[in-house]
Amino acid sequence: MLHKIKDEISENRKYIYLTYIISILTMLPQLIASFSMSKPGHFIFLSVVLVMLLFIPKFNKLLFSLFIIYINLTNIVIGHIFIHWGYTNANIGPMIETSALSPRYEILEYLTTYVDYRDLLLIVYSCLMLVFLYKFLFHFKHSFKVVKLLSFIATALIILGVGYWNNLLASREPFNIPNKCMRINNHIKIYNARMQYLNSLQEVAATDKTSIYDKIVVIQGESVNKHHMSIYNYDQKTTPFLSSLKSKDTLYIFDAISPANLTRYSLPALHTQANVHNFFELFLHSKSIISDFKTHNYKTYCISNQSKAGKDDSYIASMTQEADVHFYSNLDYASAKPDEVMLPYLNSIKNNRDKELYFIHLMGSHAQYTKRYTDKHILFQNPINIKEEYDNTIYYTDYILQNIFSCFIHKFQNQKILFIYVSDHGEVVSENKHGHGLFPTKDQYDVPFIIYSTIKNNRIDELYEKNKRGYFNLENLNYMVKYISGISEENRISYSGDVLGLEPKSIFNYDDLDFYKTK
Ligand SMILES: [Zn+2]
Repeated sequence: MLHKIKDEISENRKYIYLTYIISILTMLPQLIASFSMSKPGHFIFLSVVLVMLLFIPKFNKLLFSLFIIYINLTNIVIGHIFIHWGYTNANIGPMIETSALSPRYEILEYLTTYVDYRDLLLIVYSCLMLVFLYKFLFHFKHSFKVVKLLSFIATALIILGVGYWNNLLASREPFNIPNKCMRINNHIKIYNARMQYLNSLQEVAATDKTSIYDKIVVIQGESVNKHHMSIYNYDQKTTPFLSSLKSKDTLYIFDAISPANLTRYSLPALHTQANVHNFFELFLHSKSIISDFKTHNYKTYCISNQSKAGKDDSYIASMTQEADVHFYSNLDYASAKPDEVMLPYLNSIKNNRDKELYFIHLMGSHAQYTKRYTDKHILFQNPINIKEEYDNTIYYTDYILQNIFSCFIHKFQNQKILFIYVSDHGEVVSENKHGHGLFPTKDQYDVPFIIYSTIKNNRIDELYEKNKRGYFNLENLNYMVKYISGISEENRISYSGDVLGLEPKSIFNYDDLDFYKTK
């Protein structure tokens, strides 16, 4: 048998060499990317795929060709991300989604900014590989028999092994791209359905003169657990700025819970009529506060340091699209810079006396914590654990809030300004587990809800009195904001303990939950 294998190999030498060259050159771009980004696990995975590719052409040319074509196409996408954005496993979904949700002029703008000769070289490279493959397909035949069977067994063993090692071949790049595209498609459907509803509205601008404020600044925080804020009695001084406002009688600190522990469900529940018990139907068929204020003659701005799209964001994209003016400072969580990147834009806003609403979406305390702040504005210079890293994000956000407040107060002196600061959800902060969107615990719902008004406003006092009865569920934040701004008479408050745990199908009661316990 060994003799037979030797014979078959020497008979098919050229065939073997060519398939080896095609396989190695095809895998090379992604191997280089994963190696240079020091992703050892992924590098090993890709190497195993390469070994598998060396066996496949010995028993099936068609299967081999499909693999080669597929990997060469993904080389162009992954190579582009590697060259321009730094390759990480989480980037491809949001990139594809962003381009699917963007208007055409933005795609063109993107192409002219972020496609250069390196992308073209990669495309030429991939085309060359396909020409090679074509030549191979039509000009080379093999006479494997024993090797054919052995190669088949080897491939099957690798697939079974990889499947066991990594759950499924399809869960890793580049093989998970079709799966990601399918999931993105569902998000895009929701986005499109909501946009269709919004476009169908025939709005007449309101003529009432009941609106109280000249400027409304909604600061949407991210992953803020209020028990890590000194203004909510935390023992570390994480919020010096907010705490310094405590002496003012127009600062209001509320007791509130978020309606969900994931951004994608929480933000719609906060800012549209969607609520815990009727999420999708109301989200798809209601405006957000951005449009509500637009109807009341406010110019609306969305300024965001979160990404435009991604598994969380196409829900939110359909809301932020409602604004008249957009500014996005980053593409996704992995490449986001600390929130001060938004400050130059805020500072560049011209002084004016118009009615304006600003929706400012911070990256706040989203994991990874160490990426959310700069060394200049932190509490712990050398954080020794997760808790200190997290506290640094809270401290840094307090510094960002200080900048936002002072920017508006100095720029629009003598104007009536309303500031609202909330978080989309809380966070579990512990050594062995941290994050949100985990099995529901109280920490994932305990969020700050803070209002600061430059004028005395009875409606906020009324709200504050009502908060003494019990925590607010922020599923009705949109009603509260409209009420205290004077554009609505409907003071609809939710005292419900019902919250969404991970998805709209599963509802938990906050009062039945525990805090996360360190095991
Ligand atoms: Zn979030």
